[in-house]
Amino acid sequence: MTSAASLCIVEPVQAEADRFTSAGTWERAGAAWTSEQKKRLICCRVFAETHDVRTFVFSTEEGLPISFEPGQFITVSAEIKGQPVTRCYTISSPPTRPYTLSITVKRVPGGAMSNWLHDSLKPGGVLQAHGPSGVFTPTSHPAAKSLYLSAGSGVTPLMSMTRASIDLGLDRDIVFVHSSRTPEDIIFRDELRRLAAESSRLEVIHVCEAVGNEPDWKGPVGRLSLELLLQRVPDFKEREVFTCGPAGYMNAAKDILRRGGHDPSRYHQESFDIGAAEVERDARQAAATSNPVAAERRQTYTVRLARSSSTFTIDDSQTVLAAAKQAGVAVASSCSQGICGTCKTRLIEGTVDMRHNGGIRQREIDKGMRLLCCSRATSDLVLDL
Ligand SMILES: Cc1cc2nc3c(=O)[nH]c(=O)nc-3n(C[C@H](O)[C@H](O)[C@H](O)COP(=O)(O)OP(=O)(O)OC[C@H]3O[C@@H](n4cnc5c(N)ncnc54)[C@H](O)[C@@H]3O)c2cc1C
Repeated sequence: MTSAASLCIVEPVQAEADRFTSAGTWERAGAAWTSEQKKRLICCRVFAETHDVRTFVFSTEEGLPISFEPGQFITVSAEIKGQPVTRCYTISSPPTRPYTLSITVKRVPGGAMSNWLHDSLKPGGVLQAHGPSGVFTPTSHPAAKSLYLSAGSGVTPLMSMTRASIDLGLDRDIVFVHSSRTPEDIIFRDELRRLAAESSRLEVIHVCEAVGNEPDWKGPVGRLSLELLLQRVPDFKEREVFTCGPAGYMNAAKDILRRGGHDPSRYHQESFDIGAAEVERDARQAAATSNPVAAERRQTYTVRLARSSSTFTIDDSQTVLAAAKQAGVAVASSCSQGICGTCKTRLIEGTVDMRHNGGIRQREIDKGMRLLCCSRATSDLVLDL
């Protein structure tokens, strides 16, 4: 029997879930801006989060609202020292505040874009960016209970998700475990403290590797561990897990959860660690080159560029992007992991084995587009370049 009382309980919970997990919610929140579309973003505010992390707040040139999903990123480009540089940055602000968007950037020693942003981008400055992209979002993984695990600047997508959930007034159960080097490296520390104080169902746990300049630090010291999860988040096996941080941290988190019996199908991660992806690929390529048997068996193909009529060769140990770069062909690229879509190119002839991570839609694949960073040739190719 369906009583009025039971309807009262069931309906709000369903409506609440829909508000957070339906892409439509975010589409309604602002004007569409696709990942293929470049816009000029006007910087309205810059502020320090820690000694080496800054948040940059932007509005669009037209002042229109922007729609995106919590956890998505934009792909920004700038000319730095005469060279075009493109990088991905997660939108750290929530889609519930659609008139501005923020990115929160850690300064990377020797890094082109992060240093340029920190040193040169001031309020009133302009940044070019391609629209929101990415599948690391709760939209496709509805869950009443979540566990957010992040380290360093990997906090940004989870911060957008947390802010959105609280802005929508959702009664969601979130445990947010963030790892930092020392207490003074904790990004969004004051805001997370305030949000946790305001919301009975958000718990924030900061884990620091060392106490640094804060000897009276009361939180856990060390690294994320199974013991810590069992003690502080005993129901972690029931939670949808979202993880973001350096490659080493994510490998450790995944292993801890696996050992703790967490269902891997409820684990989602995003890597910012382009270096790690490239190092891994270079190692694979080096192994393939140094192994004479493998080298002999390697298949080689020809790639022709339709616009310039130039050609280069590729073997099956290389991605098309790596081979193009090796041959001196300038191809716009950023994440190297099949996430950001910057290297999307039309394949006019031939076949590739593409292993992407959400950076291309099925309808684009159907139209012949491919991401060169995660495609390996399986025949001779002709590219629209
Ligand atoms: C989906 C996604 C979302 C992201 N979101 C964020 C975010 O929210 N916040 C954030 O801070 N970052 C984020 N990143 C990382 C960001 O895109 C950049 O990778 C990061 O800011 C470093 O870029 P950079 O241009 O400063 O450094 P790069 O110029 O790319 O350099 C990186 C490192 O490589 C070294 N290096 C560069 N060139 C060479 C060379 N030729 N030989 C040897 N070493 C070299 C540099 O010294 C430096 O240590 C995200 C990445 C992805 C993929």
